[in-house]
Amino acid sequence: MQRGRPRRVARDDIALLRWLGRSSHSAVALVRGEGTYVWDADGKRYLDFIGGIATVSVGHANAKVRDAVLEQTKLLWHASNLYVTEPQVRLAEKLVRLSFADRVFFCNSGAEANEAMIKLARHFHVVAGHAERIEIVCMNNSFHGRTLGSLAATGQPKYQQGFGPLPAGFRFLEYGEAKALEAAVSDKTCAVLLEPLQGEAGVLPPPRGYLSRVRELCTKHGALMLLDEVQTGMGRTGAYFAHQHERIEPDAMTLAKGIAGGVPLGALLAREDVAKVFTPGTHASTFGGNPLATAAASAVMDLLAEGLLERVQRAGERLSMRLAGVGGRSSGERGSGLLRALLLSEDLAPKVVTKARELGLLVNAIGERVVRLAPPLTVTDEEIDRASELLAEAVAKA
Ligand code: PLP
Repeated sequence: MQRGRPRRVARDDIALLRWLGRSSHSAVALVRGEGTYVWDADGKRYLDFIGGIATVSVGHANAKVRDAVLEQTKLLWHASNLYVTEPQVRLAEKLVRLSFADRVFFCNSGAEANEAMIKLARHFHVVAGHAERIEIVCMNNSFHGRTLGSLAATGQPKYQQGFGPLPAGFRFLEYGEAKALEAAVSDKTCAVLLEPLQGEAGVLPPPRGYLSRVRELCTKHGALMLLDEVQTGMGRTGAYFAHQHERIEPDAMTLAKGIAGGVPLGALLAREDVAKVFTPGTHASTFGGNPLATAAASAVMDLLAEGLLERVQRAGERLSMRLAGVGGRSSGERGSGLLRALLLSEDLAPKVVTKARELGLLVNAIGERVVRLAPPLTVTDEEIDRASELLAEAVAKA
């Protein structure tokens, strides 16, 4: 294969990838990316407004991230959790400086980070002499991952069915309903686990004040407030972490997706008094905190600090305005920063996604009436305008 030239991918090569697709969608074989654009095996170019599902945070093939990884490849690729490495420590220090947290545990994905957070919360109460505090209050329509623990916390029965028995002790409430929360959280509660804005539920923000109420109730009852910022964190909503918009602090939080710009990395962050219950050997990961991945994440964080966060706020407002103007069978938009949804008044979302793809725009459907957009945070105004035009055309033709 020649460098930079798209290679044809035979249908058989992509059989595994199709496990992830909707059966109605024929898979697109992507071979190259640059900024907000990707190219498929036939050389067709797409404006990528889903960004690996909110993961390609600083654009495809970002030069600074690539250089950071390349430099690290000359030094050390792997060390395991028996040792620490410089890129790991550097990244942890940056995350701690910008967040409520004192400690960081690195793993490889969002689901793994949530597994670690659930274990941390349970163990926190065990160490405090309250092994009976096992109940974790979760939210309907949430998404926390596909491993058994994170799946047990996911409030979408369609993902859980066929995999039982799931771990016990998870209870579900309507997201955003403070009254239900007040009735459910007690001195027996282990933790409340939620997303600061529900991504997979259709880019759904909670009512203003809801996160503060969760915080108050957790503090009052000695339960831990656990935030899943896998989709919303690392600048996606225009703040480093989405909960910072509401000026509250959780006890622990998970990150993944955009943290390393597309290189696999997950993280669990916690305050010292909570984190300290994980002593060496309590929880671990062989690949977690891999030097290549943490070097990539450090470069992503430097880019966020160099004015990208402010840019996300302005770009998010522009995208919001453009989506509101899509018209036709769209009925509005919602979201925060560069995590947004176009809402449809008919069951058209999968068709809109297919049409958009034909027109050279990648977005994704959540259910039948929501089209999600999560472009790289480096997206330009011109790209936002063009994507909105293509989306309007896709809605009209779907
Ligand atoms: N948590 C949230 C909020 C997510 O959106 C996702 C993935 O979509 C996950 C957890 C799972 O992350 P991963 O696919 O990296 O395991």
